[in-house]
Amino acid sequence: MTKLDAEVIVIGAGIGGLVTATQLVAKGIDVLVLEKYLIPGGSAGYFSRNGYRFDVGASMIFGFGKQGTTNLLTRALAAVDQELETIPDPVQIHYHLPQIDLKVHRDYQQFLAVLTERFPQEKRGIKQFYDECWRVFNCLNSIPLLSLEEWRYLLTVFAQHPLACLGLVGYLPQNVGDVARRYIVDPELLRFIDMECYCWSVVPADRTPMINAGMVFSDRHYGGINYPKGGVGQIALKLTEGLTKKGGRIRYSARVNRIHPQGNRITVQLATGETLTAKRVVSNATRWDTFALLEQQPSWWEKQWWQRYQKSPSFLSLHLGVDKSIVQNVQDCHHILLEDWSQMEAEQGTVFVSIPTLLDPDLAPTGYHIFHVFTPSWMQAWQGLSPQQYEEKKERDAERVIDRLEAIFPGLTKAIDYQEVGTPRTHRRFLGRIDGTYGPIPRTRPLGLLGMPFNRTSIPNLFCVGDSTFPGQGLNAVAFSGFACAHLVASTLGK
Ligand SMILES: Cc1cc2nc3c(=O)[nH]c(=O)nc-3n(C[C@H](O)[C@H](O)[C@H](O)COP(=O)(O)OP(=O)(O)OC[C@H]3O[C@@H](n4cnc5c(N)ncnc54)[C@H](O)[C@@H]3O)c2cc1C
Repeated sequence: MTKLDAEVIVIGAGIGGLVTATQLVAKGIDVLVLEKYLIPGGSAGYFSRNGYRFDVGASMIFGFGKQGTTNLLTRALAAVDQELETIPDPVQIHYHLPQIDLKVHRDYQQFLAVLTERFPQEKRGIKQFYDECWRVFNCLNSIPLLSLEEWRYLLTVFAQHPLACLGLVGYLPQNVGDVARRYIVDPELLRFIDMECYCWSVVPADRTPMINAGMVFSDRHYGGINYPKGGVGQIALKLTEGLTKKGGRIRYSARVNRIHPQGNRITVQLATGETLTAKRVVSNATRWDTFALLEQQPSWWEKQWWQRYQKSPSFLSLHLGVDKSIVQNVQDCHHILLEDWSQMEAEQGTVFVSIPTLLDPDLAPTGYHIFHVFTPSWMQAWQGLSPQQYEEKKERDAERVIDRLEAIFPGLTKAIDYQEVGTPRTHRRFLGRIDGTYGPIPRTRPLGLLGMPFNRTSIPNLFCVGDSTFPGQGLNAVAFSGFACAHLVASTLGK
């Protein structure tokens, strides 16, 4: 019998992989994490330059609430005796849209009031729509969130919470667009709901599952948006600390090149040629990247998913250090800018801005702030360029985005102290994600969340975790996927 290097090997130290690993370690299982990069976090990682500490991706963080069951980041950290100081964000997003300038306040009634003030004729519909989102959330928030592939859990949770479970089953196949149109007729307000979805699902309301929307549109007022002190990178660092203190292991610069299922064992091969064997392997790489590591063809079922879902765009990302004079009249950390509705889904259409130093000034040198600006961009736009053409395009596109931001941050161009530009190629290289994609998006109107794959794969002893498994992108969502995956893997090991 081949010697085991660990009971479970986790490929990748993104938040999905780390939550799986820490949950398994907390259950007493021997875990080894293999991460190809130098630090943990993946899309929730960080980098430091000239006294600035930049988040590479995520910065609007759900899941740090103190109550209920949906505060999965708080719970994941607690499982390995860790916690993080967080700073509450009083406004989730300040929207700068055509004829709509409003803030999503942490306080639900205040948010309803500002939206109703802008669309008074839709007062009733607004309340009915967002209240329906709360019904989804209340169901989710009353049950322990574990693996929907594990029948003992399903039976127990149904016996204990029958109404919540039936409620969720009803919402599983539904999309936000259909629910919104039940209550709202104003086309401009429906476009606003599209943007409310697009800004985290990167698809409009008709292609956004109601379960995810119920979570996002309610938890922002319940647990709220909370920024980790010291930057988003702290989440992965703390999970890693908890993992190793509990006996788990992590290796960096450990790129997995191949996965070989072998009877009741499974082996991974590193880029160095070293092979490691475990009873189970969990891949935190995207499903596309995971299947590229296998010699086996994807099963019929797996191919179905590839037909239903496609890669979302990546991003053009600007990491800016700016003089404090720019934010003298700015209170809100997160902004979204769109000048023309027809451009919402277009290449470099919607612009996202995060200014985390408004919440944690220690991330930048005194007198300066961080602007993380990003806008969707496809890999195709950055291929076939000479190194010089690539650099010129980076500079040109960054300049255009900064120009547009002058409308809401006058003087920005002149206030820039430091600038680093990332493209889909950068996201592919440093985040290890095919085409730098943000994750899967449905090709056509999906049946809510019913088409998303869970953690099991058709390959024996291989599981997937992260944003290309149920329920999708976002840190709290991939934490959910991690809880579910660890629960399923542990149950297959009889633990
Ligand atoms: C610009 C941007 C902004 C975002 N904003 C937000 C936000 O505000 N709020 C929010 O909640 N979410 C946000 N997100 C989304 C969120 O960051 C992701 O959904 C989430 O971090 C994905 O986590 P994951 O665990 O699935 O995978 P990843 O973070 O992609 O981690 C996968 C890990 O696996 C490693 N890996 C891959 N292949 C191999 C291999 N062969 N061998 C070894 N290691 C490997 C990678 O290096 C990586 O560390 C944003 C994302 C981006 C890019």
